[in-house]
Amino acid sequence: MSSRIDHFIAGKQFSEADSRTGPVFNPSTGREISRCAYASRSTVDHAVQVATEAGRRWARGSHASRQAVIFKLRDLMLHNFDLLAEVIGREHGKTIEDAKGELGRAIEGIEFACGAPHVSKGEYANNVGGDIEVFSMRRPIGVVGCITPFNFPIMVPAVMMTMAVAVGNSVVWKPSEKVPSAAIEFARLWKEAGLPDGVFNVVQGDKEVVDAILEHPGIAGISFVGSTPVGEYIYQKGTSHNKRVAAFTGGKNHMIVMPDADLDAAASAFVSAGFGSSSQRCMAVSLLLPVGHETADRLLELVIPKIKALKVGAYDDPSADFGAVVSCESKATVERAIGRCIEEGGQMVVDGRNVSVPGHPDGYYLGPTLFDRVTTNMQMYKEEVFGPVRGILRPATLNEAIDITNEHEYGNGSVIFTRDGKTAHRFMMEVESGMIGVNVPVPLPTASFNFGGLRRSRFGDGHLYGPDAARFYTKLKTISQRWPEPDTAALPISLAFNPAG
Ligand code: NAD
Repeated sequence: MSSRIDHFIAGKQFSEADSRTGPVFNPSTGREISRCAYASRSTVDHAVQVATEAGRRWARGSHASRQAVIFKLRDLMLHNFDLLAEVIGREHGKTIEDAKGELGRAIEGIEFACGAPHVSKGEYANNVGGDIEVFSMRRPIGVVGCITPFNFPIMVPAVMMTMAVAVGNSVVWKPSEKVPSAAIEFARLWKEAGLPDGVFNVVQGDKEVVDAILEHPGIAGISFVGSTPVGEYIYQKGTSHNKRVAAFTGGKNHMIVMPDADLDAAASAFVSAGFGSSSQRCMAVSLLLPVGHETADRLLELVIPKIKALKVGAYDDPSADFGAVVSCESKATVERAIGRCIEEGGQMVVDGRNVSVPGHPDGYYLGPTLFDRVTTNMQMYKEEVFGPVRGILRPATLNEAIDITNEHEYGNGSVIFTRDGKTAHRFMMEVESGMIGVNVPVPLPTASFNFGGLRRSRFGDGHLYGPDAARFYTKLKTISQRWPEPDTAALPISLAFNPAG
């Protein structure tokens, strides 16, 4: 019988009798390894009540007392690095090395949150008129509902929630039901770090649990990361329930290569950024746009052998470059996208279907697939394909390449490879993406910068990390105060606007 993964509320495991459950698979083997409990509305309500109570006390604590917990959490992440990488790999399918890369980025986010007192400060002006001073302060918003995707079981939640907690909020987190175990491990580390029980809570489940969170009057804000249709729904429903919502959604990231670029470096960058983690990253390069046919032909010659040399394997195979996709459904969706691209006239230059991984006949494996001569009317250009299938478009000029990039529904990341500073400058000024790379294939900024896409890659104007995340998780209060000397004459009555000054 497979084990059951439960909720984590008030500092301990929380189970419901007769709850719905769903299967959790190991994508590398295709076997069900456990059942994930799906929370009922009453469990969500219980978690919100616990978080509200614990959050009130936590919000009153000093910055220093909160920072001590975050520092400890960082140390515990390092001590539990191998365990966490194993937990991530087993349910997600990404290689252990890739999972460790994710954890490195998670720790970076936690380190940034150690500086929360700095980024959550207010402003002050003295003597603005009549001995009045004005200052603003940032206070925690209350209980934050966090809803996260499968593809970064620890990094996205760690970056999101550590800042939320560091500035004094409590959280109720619904992880992806495909990767529920990492959430429990992370919750345990918070507890071990000394976080008071009830500040960090996990409710497992699916859409029903998300709806309970979105509708709950005790939740003040929602942080979401996931696909665009779900993010749009969450933004609309969450804001209609009077919550602040920041939703970070899908991407289809373009990589333009100019004729003057170092083509070998560009080819390697494309293969790494395009196929890492079986392309299940919102910042993966999806489309390659060499400018001019000659550049395209030369680049293709370099790219094809590099792609063919990639090895697909189980998450715990140290020689594998990338692992299985997350689910059987996901594999079928990606295979359908391949079939449609063939029908629509894309020219398949590397075929990754029918890959076999010895010892794992039922794993959800797909080899790397590449299409040339993709055009903007094809689904391969339009849709985010969350699996190892990438496309090449052939713009004749930089203008055309920028237009293709800007006309896309998504505006997460865009990159250019060139040796010319003027071209790079023009690209960064004209391209409409939240994150831009110049000879950097995955322009995921370091944690001290804001992160967030444009167009339909983001809903709401909050950021996922960086200083604006601290602003999203706090409400601003602005205070005007005067302390008159005891012997000051009484204020004259004045009905004019702004009498205080
Ligand atoms: P998803 O949208 O299917 O699921 C995300 C979360 O929403 C999960 O917790 C899931 O349980 C929940 N959910 C799913 N369907 C729902 C529904 N109908 N109503 C309410 N909640 C629902 O996304 P995923 O497949 O887990 O993750 C991959 C997606 O996330 C990709 O589109 C990727 O680009 C995106 N992503 C974006 C970023 C970013 O920063 N922009 C980062 C990572 C992943």
